[in-house]
Amino acid sequence: MLGISDRANNLGESVTIKMARIAGELKEQGKDIISLSLGEPDFNVPEIVKNAAKKAIDDNHSHYTPVPGYKDLLKAIQAKFKRDNDLNYDLDQIVVSTGAKHSLMNVLLSTVNPGDEVILPAPYWVSYIEMAKFCEGTPVVINTSIETDFKITPDQLEKALSSKTKLFLFSNPCNPSGSVYTHDELAELVKVFEKSECYIVSDEIYEYINFEGKTPSLANFASIRDRVITVNGMSKGYSMTGWRIGYIGAPKAVAKACAKIQGQFTSGANAVAQMASITALNDAADDVESMRKVFLKRRDLFLEKLSEIKELKLNKPTGAFYLFPDVSNYFGKSYEGRTINGVGDLCEFILEDSLVATTPGDAFGCPNNVRLSYANSEEQLIEAAKRIKESLAKLK
Ligand code: PMP
Ligand code: GLU
Repeated sequence: MLGISDRANNLGESVTIKMARIAGELKEQGKDIISLSLGEPDFNVPEIVKNAAKKAIDDNHSHYTPVPGYKDLLKAIQAKFKRDNDLNYDLDQIVVSTGAKHSLMNVLLSTVNPGDEVILPAPYWVSYIEMAKFCEGTPVVINTSIETDFKITPDQLEKALSSKTKLFLFSNPCNPSGSVYTHDELAELVKVFEKSECYIVSDEIYEYINFEGKTPSLANFASIRDRVITVNGMSKGYSMTGWRIGYIGAPKAVAKACAKIQGQFTSGANAVAQMASITALNDAADDVESMRKVFLKRRDLFLEKLSEIKELKLNKPTGAFYLFPDVSNYFGKSYEGRTINGVGDLCEFILEDSLVATTPGDAFGCPNNVRLSYANSEEQLIEAAKRIKESLAKLK
């Protein structure tokens, strides 16, 4: 009997990837598209990291690696956790995977039983909700808005927790809002977590793209440390998206389960990329810092340009590389007989009218918002802002 499984049919397509695909197809047709849809740094990989990869090939790092990762990489990650986050993980608490996306899926598969509740503050990263549903968990979404800088309150968290809560999952700095919880804000949430028994997944993949000091790690809070799973990876800070290396620091039982699952489905991550990641983690801090400074400059520039559009509600994100304006002032407006009924219509209109690809916020649980990635050159950002302004002005 032929046919695709219900499991696969019920899985939503990644909207970030879909929008990037559409932008790519239009570019191939010769259209002058500016893509602000995909969340990926536009920098080249630091030279020392490239050289480490070339050396790894010459040194014949071409065999299967241990499933949780090369021991030298686990040691480099252990040292990074200590150096940057003041966290002490044993080597058997660390598992390296094929990107943080894979790390997250391992974690959910390792912890969530059918019917377990998974709390997701919105905006959440697109894949969280699909991963939770794929594991037959029940997503429990906590809504926020631009007025509160897209952050949840302790009271909201308390109301969302129940005896069925298995896991709380968020990114800090946040994709897509760019918000970063401060130490004090996290401390208030921790007081609520203390009353629960769930796992807390802290996705810190944007850790290094933070404009106001250090990103606090949830595992720094002693009272909940033994149930925090810290997720991180090489994609964002080191601009190594295609190299596909992510990792976790986790309670031993969770790390062991993740390694077992990975041992059946993918084995250890790519050997050459693992070797290069050792050099990145140990020796590329200067490159990371230069990229952060460029992102900061772009954020200010893009914010300044978009602020000229009075109907857009903007806040000033303190991390990651996204703006997440509230565009609801445009709902119900029309141009040439075409009415904008929601954020999907608006993104489609912007794409067709101004050839700028964006990502609709409903994919992140925020139907009033649009995600704009500013991981793009200053020139392209200025041009994109100009085009968006002209297109939006047509809506009456
Ligand atoms: N978490 C967040 C919040 C992300 O934005 C991304 C997108 N890159 C990932 C995890 C996955 O990253 P990767 O698989 O490239 O390591
Ligand atoms: N995480 C990036 C984004 O949010 C890359 C795309 C993806 O992995 O979904 O756009």
